[in-house]
Amino acid sequence: MPHTIRRIELTRVSVPFETNGPRNGLRPGLAPWTRIESLLVRVHTADGAAGWGEAFGHFVNAGTAAVLESLVAPWFIGKDAHAIGALMEQAERAFYGFGRNGPVRYALSAIDVALWDIAAQRAGLPLYRLLGGNRPEVGRYASFARYGDPDAVAANTAGAAAAGFAQVKLHEATLPAFLAARQAAGDRTRVALDVNCPWTVDEARAMARRIAPEDFEWLEEPVWPPEDYDAMARVRREGTPIAAGENVTTLHDFKRLFEAGAVDVVQPSVIKAGGITAVRKVYALAESYSVRVAPHCYFWGPGYLATAHLIAADPRPMLLETPYITLQEPIHPAFDSQSGRMELPDTAGLGFAPDEAALARHTAWSAAVS
Ligand SMILES: [Mg+2]
Repeated sequence: MPHTIRRIELTRVSVPFETNGPRNGLRPGLAPWTRIESLLVRVHTADGAAGWGEAFGHFVNAGTAAVLESLVAPWFIGKDAHAIGALMEQAERAFYGFGRNGPVRYALSAIDVALWDIAAQRAGLPLYRLLGGNRPEVGRYASFARYGDPDAVAANTAGAAAAGFAQVKLHEATLPAFLAARQAAGDRTRVALDVNCPWTVDEARAMARRIAPEDFEWLEEPVWPPEDYDAMARVRREGTPIAAGENVTTLHDFKRLFEAGAVDVVQPSVIKAGGITAVRKVYALAESYSVRVAPHCYFWGPGYLATAHLIAADPRPMLLETPYITLQEPIHPAFDSQSGRMELPDTAGLGFAPDEAALARHTAWSAAVS
């Protein structure tokens, strides 16, 4: 059969990067990043087609890679790459007992993205066109690292605004940092706040009340733990729009998030939640709850491109989250963290076209399953 999956290559790419400011760890007990990874998956079919995917990510990459190599990639060998929806449904059922959220889900996400890349190549269309879109360009927003320093926040906000970014997003959790960005942003640049789950519900409500008059674009993941949707709904009632969803994976959990009235903006992550197949369902569900979709995307590899295609396929405009970092060496041209606009590749498929020599220089681990 020409569409049979024959071989799956796995590669961990690890690239040193600069944050454009001080480095501060987002999470207690984890060192600040000095390198940023991409866990690449390349699926090959019997007739010579090949598609790229990416699995989440960052500190859990070694685990996701092990799950891919030992369990998920071998399961897909010999399967028909063509019927993606049915195949992913079958895979979800096969692996449900090993984690509905976590490395197994991330591994499935990578395979799904690669299968969509192949499908769009076969159709002779850029992926966003296969998904029903017709906008070849999307806007980006600059997603800052955590600097832990209001002066660095202000300088980068002003710099991104001057470079034409319509929005920036902070990864800070203090009022001085928020206000520094607000002041530096000017009239044309929106400011979103991603605080990464630091607060109790009462702390988060107090902050949301304090910043409500400041007109921030959204306050992201304000409470610990991230799955306390009722707490988020209480924070939302203080008047600042709430965003969340990068730590939600199943469609039923997204439904619970919406039913709780927890969010104005939902942020499914294409390389965590199950790939293009899963995130398309989240788009449809979100529409029925009048929730905006702003996919999570702190990536720079195929997951970044997959997110760009999803946004370009959606009739409602949304900016593409883009890490505001400088890679020591660019691996592919689509990732440009210094421009507020992005032209999607007009080649068929995902359009991930890495510089093979650069990729090889930064490969930290690789394996193949056949
Ligand atoms: Mg976030």
